[in-house]
Amino acid sequence: MVSETPKKMFGVIIEKTGGTEVLQYKDDLPVPEPKKGEILIKNEVIGVNYIDTYFRTGLYQAPSFPYTLGREGGGIIAALGGGETYDLQEGQRVVYMGSAAYAEYSAVPSLHVFSIPDGISTETACAGILQGLTALTLIRESHHVKPGDWVLVHAAAGGVGLWLCQLLKAVGAHTVATASSDEKLELAKQFGAEVTVNYAKEDIVKTVNEVTNGKGVIAVFDGVGQDTFDISLECVARKGSLVSFGNASGAVPPVTIARLSPKVVKLSRPMLFGYLATREEAEHYASELWDFMLKDKLQVRIHDVYPLRDVARAHSDIEGRKTTGKLLLKP
Ligand code: NDP
Repeated sequence: MVSETPKKMFGVIIEKTGGTEVLQYKDDLPVPEPKKGEILIKNEVIGVNYIDTYFRTGLYQAPSFPYTLGREGGGIIAALGGGETYDLQEGQRVVYMGSAAYAEYSAVPSLHVFSIPDGISTETACAGILQGLTALTLIRESHHVKPGDWVLVHAAAGGVGLWLCQLLKAVGAHTVATASSDEKLELAKQFGAEVTVNYAKEDIVKTVNEVTNGKGVIAVFDGVGQDTFDISLECVARKGSLVSFGNASGAVPPVTIARLSPKVVKLSRPMLFGYLATREEAEHYASELWDFMLKDKLQVRIHDVYPLRDVARAHSDIEGRKTTGKLLLKP
């Protein structure tokens, strides 16, 4: 470990699950020692993802308490833990996906640490990496989208949603975007959506049938979950894919698989890390994402940057549907 790394740091822990009141900002947490295969990063910026709220509420189970939330950050490598570190060096500017990111320092697996190309700031890289890679693997792996495809994207003005709108446009597909307000839908349009539906007041199935001549969309990317699952199944075309990748409105209850038969629908429930299990996969998609940002000029929309101390406000804003694009925290 480099000599200037302190022994104590600030960060946010939870000791039990619950509302935003369980988030505790502390200034005397131990700086983690990177184990073999891990890298210690001094965070300059931390990404907020909807999954952080699942661990806080208990929808997803924390391995133990106290638990530090946060899956993504960007900063400088402070120390290497040995083992395989993929040519990453102390002092390098990196972005990562891992755990315990809501802190001054995080020790994370080197498998998902990436050097940031010139021309992309640490803040932008951090704002883009997890949600951008999620969207990219969804359209490449969960359902390989082709030019001319009609696709439905729920919560299209959110972090993953805006990435999907842009990437789908970039690969020549047509997007029907849903969101809960007209302002959000306007944003989704600016990011590439062709047709929009305000699901607080308009009929998604009717719109999808109109634009696809009753055929339905070949893929639905549904990160909303409980509230939209049935509608998504109605909207998907014969031989299409229903990709259910999140639970912003609550977990989807168990599904009777016979419901997939009439339209021979492919149902999947992907997880980003399932597509990035090897360094080769991780580097392949990270490099494709950087290319989309640098060459195709895809945008990373940063909703706001809050101090880490204001983490409770960050959680209540994302859960309260107040954010569009990416919310970041500054340690
Ligand atoms: P978002 O920025 O998209 O925020 C969530 C959005 O969901 C809200 O803005 C809101 O948009 C919509 N929403 C619909 N119903 C509700 C509800 N009842 N309460 C709150 N929000 C609701 O978050 P992320 O981009 O971080 O994540 C989007 C989804 O993708 C999440 O479900 C997340 O878990 C999932 N995800 C899955 C991954 C995987 O590997 N499987 C990886 C990354 C994300 P609106 O107001 O327009 O309805």
